[in-house]
Amino acid sequence: MALTRETPLTDLPGVGPARAKKLEKLGLKKLGDLLYHLPQRYEDRRECFNLRDAPEDRPCCVAAMVASAPTVSRIRKGLELVKAKAVDSFGVLHLTFFNQTYLRTALRPGETYVFFGTAERQGRARSMTNPVFEKEGAGRVTGLIMPVYPLTAGISNNLVAGLARRAVDDCLDSLPEFLPEQVRLDHALCQIQYARKNIHFPPSWEELAIARRRLVFEELFTLTCGLSLLKERRERGAGRVLKADPAEFAALLPFAPTGAQRRAMEDMAADFASGRVMNRLVQGDVGSGKTAVAAFGAWAAAQNGCQCALMAPTELLAEQHAKTLDALLSPAGVRVALLTGAVKGRPRKALLNALAEGEIDLIVGTHALFSEGVAYKDLGLVVADEQHRFGVAQRAALAEKGSGTAPHVLVMSATPIPRTLALIIYGDLDVSVIDELPPGRTPVQTFAVGEDKRARMYGFVRKQVGEGRQVYIVCPAVEETEDLPAWNDLYAPPMDMKAVTTYAKDLREKVFPDLTVGLVHGKMKPKDKEAAMADFVSGKTQVLVSTTVIEVGVDVPNASLMVIENAERFGLSQLHQLRGRVGRGSHQSYCVLVSASKSDTARERLKALCATNDGFQIAEEDLRLRGPGDFFGKRQHGLPQLKVADFASDMELLKEAKGAADGLIASDPDLSWPEHKPLRAQIQRLFEENAELFN
Ligand code: ADP
Ligand code: MG
Repeated sequence: MALTRETPLTDLPGVGPARAKKLEKLGLKKLGDLLYHLPQRYEDRRECFNLRDAPEDRPCCVAAMVASAPTVSRIRKGLELVKAKAVDSFGVLHLTFFNQTYLRTALRPGETYVFFGTAERQGRARSMTNPVFEKEGAGRVTGLIMPVYPLTAGISNNLVAGLARRAVDDCLDSLPEFLPEQVRLDHALCQIQYARKNIHFPPSWEELAIARRRLVFEELFTLTCGLSLLKERRERGAGRVLKADPAEFAALLPFAPTGAQRRAMEDMAADFASGRVMNRLVQGDVGSGKTAVAAFGAWAAAQNGCQCALMAPTELLAEQHAKTLDALLSPAGVRVALLTGAVKGRPRKALLNALAEGEIDLIVGTHALFSEGVAYKDLGLVVADEQHRFGVAQRAALAEKGSGTAPHVLVMSATPIPRTLALIIYGDLDVSVIDELPPGRTPVQTFAVGEDKRARMYGFVRKQVGEGRQVYIVCPAVEETEDLPAWNDLYAPPMDMKAVTTYAKDLREKVFPDLTVGLVHGKMKPKDKEAAMADFVSGKTQVLVSTTVIEVGVDVPNASLMVIENAERFGLSQLHQLRGRVGRGSHQSYCVLVSASKSDTARERLKALCATNDGFQIAEEDLRLRGPGDFFGKRQHGLPQLKVADFASDMELLKEAKGAADGLIASDPDLSWPEHKPLRAQIQRLFEENAELFN
């Protein structure tokens, strides 16, 4: 029977209906599926040892001749042992198999087999329990680098490996090479057949590396090509022309924009004038002044008679943005409103009505801005602040809110994303980088301290307050019992964790009875939260104890000290964000990371933060230490799950693949050339598999 990639697995010997069902759980239905079911790891079973030299501490292959017929003994119900003895010229090997009675006839006296297992010493002899074995020279499960696959109950690795072997032997030739020849040559990539064969059964680690490199490249290349196509498609969509002059807007600002802010605004002005829809990411470290850039967008929309919606990640931040933007833009006649969960009943109705009637030019809120029941008269621009998790799909959902023409989209991020990764996550966006801080900032000095320095730390808080400054103290949890996000467990064993409520109480009563200590956390009523924040903003509160609700965007220039308790519990990028809350005024500012953790990784991470103020560098470090899964929270980056590539370790290839994709799309924007047909098909498949992300 000729096997093809379409051959159902049930056509193969050894796969009955029951097994087929289990294989389906692994996504394996047809023989061709095996080609894409990749090993998790490999076992080097190439070297064959004799019974004198075989290592004892790890599995290895041993060739030995079965000396006598195996014996079966029934220990109790459900436990049968097959025992056999094998020999080579150096010694004796005792073999024990549990519940594999059929082996009694499979192991023939006088025949030499290769056994793979751990050859433990047993007196002068050796013993192995449940080894894998085959006739010497068979080369199926020994004498090779053995792939170890993801499995499910009732499916053995040998079965999957056997099927993979069939797939590799019988249906590789029909796999179309979808990487353009020139790309393959330029980047020294092996052919698809070679790659698919050697990722399963590599004769050597070198060949595995060559195969893997190609597969990583093809995966990233397909993805980046796909994103570029989306971008192309979107860019061809007509966009409303907005006339807006950044210089005219700059006159409204209480400060002169930095060069980087000006460039970002000019990028936007060019987008607005282009007649195409803007999809722009403004990336800039905390404190770089992204709000002003967003304000330019809102102003531009209002100037041209359409509306702008600004979405913040938290209500607190939405409130602050609404205030800042109202102060800035209302003198220019822009009508600003805030929509949060706190706006209820009749006022809410009135607000929604005004929005639908076009009586509001800029509405600020959370993602609720795009929920049902919120209608716009004429939405021209959507701004998403601090939305590094704002994926392709969400942006598309926004576009729906536009009436007729899709609104322009501006995404702002404080870049806890390494540059290289941003390339792919925001592959369908244009990017403006704000790489310059407003003048007069002195870098925040950061210290990591242990519990022994607590008294000194409190003394330092007092000193800052004495000089007229204000202080943040951040704790990881609201209540003593609160669970933290899972990834924190990786770094810190559960330990005495500072909970804001009790901590604030202690500070008020015992440590700083003479100072005003405020408290704000996410579980407070919005009104109380707002009041507590307002007191800090106005300077009434000297020390603000909080959870990470103050993480993003909150702006109090007089605050000069950020103390972070249980600092080991936060991600590096998060710590950097928190630190960005200080150093916003002209005073020298400080960040003190308090941690009792003795773990080396924890220390290394905190030290990295003391060493640099560069958010990009910290993000790279964070990615290195944590890996991308945790970095974004599972699957929150809005991209397809990668099968081969790893964002953290395959950065270099990602850059290459992105470069190649850009080059290709530049010369054939639709991929309509005949030689690009296989690539198109491959991208189509990627889109279909991830329809929920891309539509
Ligand atoms: P980001 O959102 O990028 O973290 P913000 O927009 O909140 O930063 O700006 C941080 C602070 O810097 C604010 O107090 C803002 O008024 C101020 N600021 C922004 N741009 C300038 C500038 N060009 N000159 C002086 N101060 C600026
Ligand atoms: Mg901001």
